Amino acid sequence: NKDFGIEKVLKNLGIKKENKGTSTGGKWFATGKVIESYSPVDGNLIAKVTSSSKKDYEKVISEAEIAFKEFRLMPAPKRGEIVRQFGEKLRKHKDDLGKLVSYEMGKSLQEGLGEVQEMIDICDFAVGLSRQLHGFTMHSERPGHRMYEQYHPLGIVGIISAFNFPVAVWSWNTALAWICGDVCIWKPSEKAPLCGIACQNIIAEVLKDNHLPQGISGLVIGDAEIGDLMAKDTRVPLISATGSTRMGKIVAQNVAARLGKSLLELGGNNAIIVTPDADIKMTVIGAVFGAVGTAGQRCTSTRRLIIHESMYEKVKDALVTAYGQLKIGNPLDESNHVGPLIDKDAVKMYENALKKVETEGGKLLVKGGVLKGKGYESGCYVKPAIVEAENHFEMVQHETFAPILYLLKYSGDVENAIEIQNGVVQGLSSAIMTNNLREAEKFLSHAGSDCGIANVNIGTSGAEIGGAFGGEKETGGGRESGSDAWKVYMRRQTNTINYTTNLPLAQGIKFDL
Ligand code: NAD
Repeated sequence: NKDFGIEKVLKNLGIKKENKGTSTGGKWFATGKVIESYSPVDGNLIAKVTSSSKKDYEKVISEAEIAFKEFRLMPAPKRGEIVRQFGEKLRKHKDDLGKLVSYEMGKSLQEGLGEVQEMIDICDFAVGLSRQLHGFTMHSERPGHRMYEQYHPLGIVGIISAFNFPVAVWSWNTALAWICGDVCIWKPSEKAPLCGIACQNIIAEVLKDNHLPQGISGLVIGDAEIGDLMAKDTRVPLISATGSTRMGKIVAQNVAARLGKSLLELGGNNAIIVTPDADIKMTVIGAVFGAVGTAGQRCTSTRRLIIHESMYEKVKDALVTAYGQLKIGNPLDESNHVGPLIDKDAVKMYENALKKVETEGGKLLVKGGVLKGKGYESGCYVKPAIVEAENHFEMVQHETFAPILYLLKYSGDVENAIEIQNGVVQGLSSAIMTNNLREAEKFLSHAGSDCGIANVNIGTSGAEIGGAFGGEKETGGGRESGSDAWKVYMRRQTNTINYTTNLPLAQGIKFDL
């Protein structure tokens, strides 16, 4: 893709035509099989990566173990300074990295740049946090005793990430883990390996400039096999895994079998409730962006609209009209609204879901379809679809990672809509469109949405880094990014100090010698 200058972008980010996929800091090596990265934008081969073998992985682990011994001794605010420098480097590389994300993953350029902005934001957040890793102090029941708790670094944090946020998810984890004194090993999605190489090159510069051990940041590129090694490895106390619920169930069991910690960020099935008091214009913008943005490949994408019967026809007509205006094409062209799916397998899944939901009784209001011809050579472009359906349909219960929006009707009170909204196995993001205070508060109450994210008068899609991000039920229960999510990257210790000459026991127990 000459117009867009991919060659220059790759050069600026230190990516060659053939790359090694294992790294500790700036050292690169690899002896596994070769992964080819094709762009879903135009179907072109971008570059090749030799993946990490078990032997390569072992090297990364030993470097990480060495690095941790040094890094944990560095004061947290000094570690914050390293993350500050990392954020500065990201600012410098924002344009190139944003373009690479867009070209390798297929999201719009605006979203690619937005993803890098999220990385910068989490760095800023982490820098401040590096002076605020607070523990509590509590009163001891014993005279002359002091009691408090503190947080210590955990060790090696293993990060397994999904293709759809190929750079931001890594930084949400690493920026916090690093200020906490941990070292990280990242296994990016095998569908976006070049994004992994680019990020590793950026952090390697920072580590080198500061004469820090390279094992603070490790990279292992590969598929589920390498992820499996990490999940089962007792030397990795925390696994943070982002991806499908299918993957999460396997990883969770492997980590639990060794009593390790896991932070799981899995699939969603996000809904917007549209009540009789909703602002239609805001609803349509929120729903359409939520359903077709990133071609429906966000964990927070809007999959279901639960519309009050009194508003149903109006909302339906407005949506069908809006879908008629959508421009589908090269995501690097800012006039397009919808880019490609990640690969042809994803296209097949999209087609199967539409077929299946029709056999279940779904009515296609906006027919989908795969686009062919000029500009669609990669075979990954599909038309966003709208289906009239019922919540209990198997396909409605399932997260299809594509732009398919299901319209569901409710009658009566908002409680009925909340029941439908909660009536799925996933629990990531949810929203209500209403100007009615009672409805909004009910939705946010303990009898309201059961999701990790519940919004009023904004859509389900996207989030700010300042809040803890994650979801309940089959979304995995993990929280990362803002608020107190940092605590999962540390181990907690309670300390009691006796400053008397006696040794009183707790609970008044007497033990005289
Ligand atoms: P995926 O589950 O296919 O892969 C995710 C990662 O897990 C990849 O790196 C993959 O190699 C690895 N993996 C797969 N099987 C594994 C195993 N058995 N052991 C260890 N690692 C394994 O997901 P995907 O298609 O890349 O991403 C889409 C999914 O991710 C969607 O379900 C989406 O909702 C979810 N997602 C969730 C969040 C969130 O924060 N909740 C964010 C982004 C994406």
